[in-house]
Amino acid sequence: MKQPLVIAGPCSAESREQVLSTAQALAAGGIRIFRAGVWKPRTRPGGFEGVGSGAFPWLQEARALTGMQICTEVATPQHVEEALGAGMDLLWIGARTTANPFAVQELAEALKGVSVPVLVKNPINPDIELWCGAIERLSGAGVTRIGLIHRGFSSYTQKLYRNEPLWHIPIEMKRRYPDIRLFCDPSHMGGRRELVAPLAQQALDLMYDGLFVEAHCNPDGALSDAKQQLLPADLIALLRNLSVREEGSLPSDIASLRGEVDGIDEELLRLLARRQQITGEIGAYKVQHNMPVLQSDRYREIIEKRTQQGRLLDLDAAFVTAVMETIHKESIRRQLELVADAEKQ
Ligand code: PEP
Ligand code: MN
Repeated sequence: MKQPLVIAGPCSAESREQVLSTAQALAAGGIRIFRAGVWKPRTRPGGFEGVGSGAFPWLQEARALTGMQICTEVATPQHVEEALGAGMDLLWIGARTTANPFAVQELAEALKGVSVPVLVKNPINPDIELWCGAIERLSGAGVTRIGLIHRGFSSYTQKLYRNEPLWHIPIEMKRRYPDIRLFCDPSHMGGRRELVAPLAQQALDLMYDGLFVEAHCNPDGALSDAKQQLLPADLIALLRNLSVREEGSLPSDIASLRGEVDGIDEELLRLLARRQQITGEIGAYKVQHNMPVLQSDRYREIIEKRTQQGRLLDLDAAFVTAVMETIHKESIRRQLELVADAEKQ
């Protein structure tokens, strides 16, 4: 059975003590590659932007103490120069950078002929061609050791995950580049530590080659991504509990179809949440204008229309009716709650 390759470490290198204590605990649990962000790309200014190259001596010390390999994120040619100068064993390109072809081209040129592996995160937006473009720019510059990190895709609407997995995209990447190793980053995908285990398991079920996970010796006090980081000991326990599938136990086309089904279910949940939000707004209007919550004409119309629309899509009428009744019942329940709340005031 092929064990997944695990790369773990804090979102950001914050201090010598934090780096060394996290690295030692991870190494004691068998982790061989240590990650830590030194330059942090923050969506909004004002957050912790990393300590910069001053953190490299801590990473080097961690490597000397534990024997782990060390890696960091690079976003500019200057970062590449400094990171390689500090002897990083691996580099990664962050999601915001992959989304920018100019930046990737500059990085590719700075990485010309470099032999350290470069892992490329998916772009923040679900555009597979941008991800491919980054791979082409790097391989065009002669970078031969390339890996992929799937960290999910950002979306505007209410969501279960910090970044939607959209599993079909990395699965398609694997189809296009069968020889490139695929890692899953369940930390940035889930955004909450409880979601790391199920997402990591799902990645293993889909035959990913490895995991790229955040761990911190004091997660709640982390200067970035506090909610999603795990204590090293918790991460080690989590990894031990994952089931690694027999290679070949799941034909890859079935794995990819499963990934697609998961993506569809997540989409359905997102749409249901959006629907609830809108019917909630309608409910608030009804309360304000003293209108009844259940309007039977509207209900009949919904069921009839959806059954007809479903038929055109080859969906069984009884099934569509049952689904719509359940959804509608939940909207009414929420709207009645609003009425009850209004009456209390
Ligand atoms: C990170 O790995 O710490 C990071 C900044 O990730 P991403 O580029 O996926 O947001
Ligand atoms: Mn992070």
